[in-house]
Amino acid sequence: MSSVTDAFENARLTYEQHMRTCRQCHADAVPCPVAKHLLRVYNNARRDQLRAAGQ
Ligand SMILES: [Zn+2]
Repeated sequence: MSSVTDAFENARLTYEQHMRTCRQCHADAVPCPVAKHLLRVYNNARRDQLRAAGQ
């Protein structure tokens, strides 16, 4: 498994874990700032992975 894939998996798991456990996200039914940050990291990691896979 490449480091790009590792980073992508880590970002995905971190984001999913946050969405499961964050009280604020559940209370407001909208992503909290932490969730937005994690989603941005996740999207960046996914983009990096797609770019690496395309080479
Ligand atoms: Zn949250």
